[in-house]
Amino acid sequence: MRNTEATRMLFELHSPGRRAALLPACDVPPTPVAALLPGDAVAESAPPLPELSEPDVIRHFINLSTRNMSVDTHFYPLGSCTMKYNPKRNERLASLPGLVDLHPQQPAEQCQGMLELLYEMQQMLGEIAGLPGVSLQPAAGAQGEFTALLVASAYFRSRGEQRTRVLFPASAHGTNPASAALAGFECVQLKGTAGGFVDLDELQAQLDDRTAVFMVTNPNTLGMFERDLPEIARRVHAAGGLVYIDGANMNAICGITRPGDFGGDMMHYNVHKTFTGPHGAGGPGSGPIAVRDFLAPFLPGPVVERTTGREGAAVYWLAQPEHSIGRVRSFFGNVGILVRGYCYLRTLGPQGVREMSENAVLNANYLLARLKDVLPVPQGDRCLHEFVASAQKLKETRGITAMDIAKRLLDFGFHAPTVYFPLVVPEALMIEPTETESRETLDAFSDAIHQIVAEAPESLQRAPFSTPVSRPDDVRAARQPVFQWTPT
Ligand SMILES: *Cc1c(COP(=O)(O)O)cnc(C)c1O
Repeated sequence: MRNTEATRMLFELHSPGRRAALLPACDVPPTPVAALLPGDAVAESAPPLPELSEPDVIRHFINLSTRNMSVDTHFYPLGSCTMKYNPKRNERLASLPGLVDLHPQQPAEQCQGMLELLYEMQQMLGEIAGLPGVSLQPAAGAQGEFTALLVASAYFRSRGEQRTRVLFPASAHGTNPASAALAGFECVQLKGTAGGFVDLDELQAQLDDRTAVFMVTNPNTLGMFERDLPEIARRVHAAGGLVYIDGANMNAICGITRPGDFGGDMMHYNVHKTFTGPHGAGGPGSGPIAVRDFLAPFLPGPVVERTTGREGAAVYWLAQPEHSIGRVRSFFGNVGILVRGYCYLRTLGPQGVREMSENAVLNANYLLARLKDVLPVPQGDRCLHEFVASAQKLKETRGITAMDIAKRLLDFGFHAPTVYFPLVVPEALMIEPTETESRETLDAFSDAIHQIVAEAPESLQRAPFSTPVSRPDDVRAARQPVFQWTPT
């Protein structure tokens, strides 16, 4: 068995005639495929798929999986992504047969338990947001943004208003302008203050009757709370626009303050970030949105409603909001992730959710304090759940870049922080430890960074040394993809 070859592709492990399943000889006369299907549906030759045994396949994938980093194997301080530990009890609960064996097209009477769960999830998310109208449908944060912008469009259309522009600060996540453009809006980027906050004068200068939505992440992508948000919201509202809060950073503020209380009209959650849906490496996401009551009639449908039936028992049913924009995803969204998020929220309870955020902020501030002597943090000495350090000085004085540090961290058994985002900080390292890390882990990470920045730049530029691949070309796979394989 060629188990030393885990870095080779399955196509390269191909061996003609090798099979995973060996079937007994057919004991009825075979019918050619061409006799069963119309001629143009039958390929002239078999597709060039690799021929492999079952152990070939299993060892290939298991070996590959051990060459990756995950929240279960490594500290993963990937800023903005909230890579917290996902408690295993949520996995166990989400795989209960009564939940996984439900079919989404079963009549509502047969899935009252699931509908109750989804209803309560709507209620909890509405409560945490301070925005009562909730749709669970969007499959990720980016789709939540897109959906909320369609809701805003429908709202303005219903009022006969033609508002064409979406404004956002330069520190915005790339999905914000992408969603706005996809929803048919013109994107206007605001530069912001030197400290990375929204500049009120600049905002004011852009606000007019073309303004549909102002999108802002709060806490922002520098890990700082936009303190002027109530005033910002007042001005956007005075111009007739809506305020969208990108809720990807909710891990900093849950149970402490609410987007609806500081001026937001709409927001999305990333259940897979804040409420421990497993993510990274393409796991399913969940991006519910919450909106003010006057926007709720435009939400995607169906939403789950509750009434009281005979003998006072609750009955759950599916309702279509009056002016619904329609579906944005099949059925009720990524229910498996919603169930995990539900278990997480019910496990923690209101006080626990608040402590989650307080500890996330505490951990980030601890790490900031331990790192700032070697990696300055331009925004200052305090942060919320994450902070953005800069390797600019190290680059100027010693030729060490953010990328060098990120790559070398892999040798120490740490996943790299987010690098070169947000764009407003040069040589950015965006570090988000999350609340699930111990002080020992944070100390070890900090020690590793101190050791790395003391190393010789010529050596760092060749790091990592312990990974199967060291420094692949960052963009070649995207720019010159190779899809073809020719069997040998
Ligand atoms: C992750 C993230 C998004 C996008 O969310 P997805 O669930 O990945 O689509 C948007 N904004 C910010 C600030 C984020 O961190």
